[in-house]
Amino acid sequence: MKIVSICNQKGGVGKTTTAINLPAYLSQKGFKVLLVDMDPQANATSGLGIEKSNLSKNIYSVLLEQASLEESILKTKIDNLYIVPSTLQLAGATIELISSMGREHKLKKAIDSLTQAFDFIFIDCPPSLGILTINALVASNSALIPMQCEYYAMEGLSQLLNTVELVKKNLNPNLTVEGVLLTMADYRTRLTTEIIEETKKVLGEKVYNVIIPRAIRLSEAPGYGEPIMRYDKNSQGAAAYSRLSEEFISHNSNNNNKLQQNEQSQTQEENKILESTIKVEETGG
Ligand code: ATP
Ligand code: MG
Repeated sequence: MKIVSICNQKGGVGKTTTAINLPAYLSQKGFKVLLVDMDPQANATSGLGIEKSNLSKNIYSVLLEQASLEESILKTKIDNLYIVPSTLQLAGATIELISSMGREHKLKKAIDSLTQAFDFIFIDCPPSLGILTINALVASNSALIPMQCEYYAMEGLSQLLNTVELVKKNLNPNLTVEGVLLTMADYRTRLTTEIIEETKKVLGEKVYNVIIPRAIRLSEAPGYGEPIMRYDKNSQGAAAYSRLSEEFISHNSNNNNKLQQNEQSQTQEENKILESTIKVEETGG
């Protein structure tokens, strides 16, 4: 079982779109996947067609230990894809958790007590580096970072990578960077090409080969409560997320042994990335 946080403290970069569509394609390929919605906006919940108002068991009750993760799992309309829904109440959890014991480990504890096995668990994080994202990172094996192809894309990235590093040092030594996903690429502008090149130069192999284009169908699908593979499976956005799922699988195919072997070299790689990103930000590049 591999647990992946989808995070970036920047808002609107494609976290939730990725959290819906990557797992949907993995499910279609036969993997059993759980999506945990850790965002009070509950966009992943509604984007999968789940009515959020009438749910008594959700991620909020799990974090406050009023319900188990297991009993909060809902089936989605996609085979093999399950979700722990969110609710607006989760916004209050930030304050409620502050005074509670082991507040950074609530989600990890809940996942550890799962009796069902999943191939993958994905966590859709809110746009902040607060206690909810920390809980996600503490519970995860890796962080997948969507980054919008825009002028200030790299701004804030070193802060995010620093947070990942801090969590790794203090709370979860196994945490790695799964990959950086460039999203909303608009190839009509030269800027996009420049940003893609620059990002690859700085972040190297961590950047996925698959780049998600800006595609109107991707932004329409959540309004119908559907992942893109059901809303318009022949669209450009569908093709991109389908290819991403293949790239994701290929990075994870040799499973746990390979993951452990890679851990040390990953750490070195991540340190290099961190250093170069900080340099870029300092020089305003
Ligand atoms: P937040 O930080 O608020 O949680 P987010 O990082 O989860 O945002 P999304 O909700 O996935 O970002 O995307 C922001 C908006 O952009 C949404 O309206 C979404 O439908 C749209 N969007 C996401 N990806 C694409 C894309 N590739 N092409 C066009 N629109 C997109
Ligand atoms: Mg979101």
